Amino acid sequence: MGDIVTKGLMPLPGKAVKLHHLVKAPENAIESIRIREAWDADVPATVYVTPERLPDGTPCTAATVILRTRGCQWWWKSGCTFCGYFNDVRDDVTSLNLHAQWLAAKNQLNNFEGCEMVKVYTSGTFFEDEENPVDWQETVLTETAAMGKHLIVEAQAHLCNDEKIAWVAEKHPGCTVAIGLEAFDDEVLKFHCNKGFRTKTWEKAVKTLQKHGLRTKSYLLFKPPFMSEGDALHHAIKWIKDIAEHSDEISVNPMNIQKRTIVDRIFRHREYRPPWLWSLVEMIRTVHPIIHPEKQDSITRLIVHPTAAGSVRGAHNCGKCDKEVAAAIERYSVSNSLLEFEGLDCSCQKLWKTEIALDKSLPIPLGSGLDRRQDPLEKLLSP
Ligand code: SF4
Ligand SMILES: [Zn+2]
Repeated sequence: MGDIVTKGLMPLPGKAVKLHHLVKAPENAIESIRIREAWDADVPATVYVTPERLPDGTPCTAATVILRTRGCQWWWKSGCTFCGYFNDVRDDVTSLNLHAQWLAAKNQLNNFEGCEMVKVYTSGTFFEDEENPVDWQETVLTETAAMGKHLIVEAQAHLCNDEKIAWVAEKHPGCTVAIGLEAFDDEVLKFHCNKGFRTKTWEKAVKTLQKHGLRTKSYLLFKPPFMSEGDALHHAIKWIKDIAEHSDEISVNPMNIQKRTIVDRIFRHREYRPPWLWSLVEMIRTVHPIIHPEKQDSITRLIVHPTAAGSVRGAHNCGKCDKEVAAAIERYSVSNSLLEFEGLDCSCQKLWKTEIALDKSLPIPLGSGLDRRQDPLEKLLSP
């Protein structure tokens, strides 16, 4: 019996594996390899421009460049429960490929003409040397600094060590480092997100960034897996209050279901629904007076960009009011004005309120919410 260990439901000989490894898309599955190797490593995943605000609040245009890289080290080892970035990564991407992608992005956007801000996203940590070759990191940091663009890159908290951050700050002083904190709660980080670091690590990373004069942007995840709508709303409000003082910007990402992830599994099993857009409106209304106190400077800036808003895999309402509510949330992220939500109304708001009330009063950890767009009879059938 000594070497019999649990692999799923059946006792099988071999090394023990976590449930997480059994249900995530194994990187060697034929379908995953086919998708990963279908793209051209010299072409960036996406390049686009959006309205934004500079650190001093001035409205500007921002270029976003999403690159195809070797991807996040944490994903190759284990990975967050909601992250589908592995669809855009391959472990053979070289510095030459990344330089070619960077050139293609600059050509596409006319050398970022008219863009005061550039966001460079690499499906992991920008300045992690195994993920991204150092010479390419240096190219991006020094070129954007020389062009006078404000740069935003992303990182995991435990990789923001003093030596590396000092190097980043030397190449591009004052840039912003966005950290996927997801939740200011160690239990949620471990059991809901499988994030790979703790809140203390994030606190240390913020101090290191501040020491070197870099800005901190913190991502929070609205409604991680295995959480009800009522709990999600309660937690998001608390987390924003907790981290506001220590973040130059807070970007709340409402869950959108990416393919072949853990959250995709529970979504298809009808044990999870992405958040309501009404919950996001409620969250913004509640925290707005806290982060923008009257007659005082704002403590931080709150940004909410619901990806795939209005679709069943993104934050959504009944289907009739989604477009209008999502647009108001997007506008708030730029204007920071609650007036954006004036006059918004729909009959589904009643349904949303009932779901929140039930989630808060009944012992149902996964929540009381059902499909919002399905026939009422079909909802009651088992998955
Ligand atoms: S740390 Fe970021 S890139 Fe890596 S698995 Fe988690 S969400 Fe994905
Ligand atoms: Zn509605």
